[in-house]
Parts: sequence; structure tokens; C-alpha cells
Amino acid sequence: MTGSLRVSGKNEEKRKHDHVEMILSDGKILRFHDPRRFGYLKWFATQDELLASFSHYGIEPLDDVFTGKYLYEKSRGKKQAVKNFIMDQSVVVGVGNIYACEALFMAGIAPQTASGKISLTRYAKLVDAIKKVLLQAIEQGGTTLKDFENADAKPGYFQQSLQVYGRVNEECALCQAIITTKVLAGRNSFYCPKCQR
Ligand SMILES: [Zn+2]
Repeated sequence: MTGSLRVSGKNEEKRKHDHVEMILSDGKILRFHDPRRFGYLKWFATQDELLASFSHYGIEPLDDVFTGKYLYEKSRGKKQAVKNFIMDQSVVVGVGNIYACEALFMAGIAPQTASGKISLTRYAKLVDAIKKVLLQAIEQGGTTLKDFENADAKPGYFQQSLQVYGRVNEECALCQAIITTKVLAGRNSFYCPKCQR
């Protein structure tokens, strides 16, 4: 989420929230700055260790292998809500709460729908929506990653283009129904009860 890496000179003072320092071979210091303490550092002694620690992750959402068919096949027999399913890192990585809410709206799928009950056609639509939302966020400068979700669940940036996220009790831009929210797996899930089934 937030946090940054910065190279500073050897005589530069440490800032508040600089939690990790690495002295580089030229004497400069690589500092990890993390005011919100969401980040962590993990040390791997070998490349095998590194690869093993990523082996349980799913595929990349912008990769060509991420298709409607992939989600469809992976979800058969599952009762898990579709929103939790697409946010499951072992299925696909990097679909955060905001992206999941927006993509489900774009695809017209209610977040609490059982993932195993969704058709191939609807999954194809959902995959298109996920890619679209992610590309849009990247296009808007990547600033979304800088202060993505504040404590009050309002995104710092990227807010103009959000259709449902953070818009509880506001009118849906498509049908004027009132946007509602539901907690799924501990996360606020915003959706239009009319557009999303
Ligand atoms: Zn609507």
C-alpha cells in the first residue's frame, strides 16, 4: 500500500517512520519508509527460497492466461462469494478491494453471488472488467497505489472515476438506485442492488 524506498547519503538523518536501513556497498543507505506500517521485509538466502515463497500465488490479472474460462473452471463447486474469490491471491493476484467492487459493478455481478454459480459468459465479462479497471488505474498515474485506501475507506486519488466504491447512499450513475454496502470477508463491498445480480 503506502511506503517507499529511498536512497540517502550516509550523513543524512533518519526520518520518522524509516523502519529499515540497508547500508549499500558505496556507503549510501537504502531506507524503507512506512508510516502506516503495512509493509514488511522478508529475507531470502537463496533464489529457490524466494521462488518457493511465491509458488502459492495465482496468476497476474493482466496476463493473457487470465480469462473467463480460467475463473469459470477454478470456481466450479465453490460457494465462496465471487468478490472474495477474485480477491483470493491464490486465484489471481493484485485485485484489491476497490478494483473488485468496481469490476463487479462494470460486469453487473452482485458481490455476494456464489462463485460456483456464475456462468462462463459472465466470467468473461468480469475478466474484461477487471483488466479495464486495472489499466485505467495504472493510466491515472499509479498514484492510486500511493494512498489507495485511507482509514475511513475513502480513496485518496482515483475517486472521480469510481462508480460504486465509497458511494454508499448515493445514486447509481446508471439506474439511480441507491448504492448499498455489505461486509464480505471483513471488507466493505459496495454495489448497486439493481444493476448487479
Ligand atoms: Zn444501478
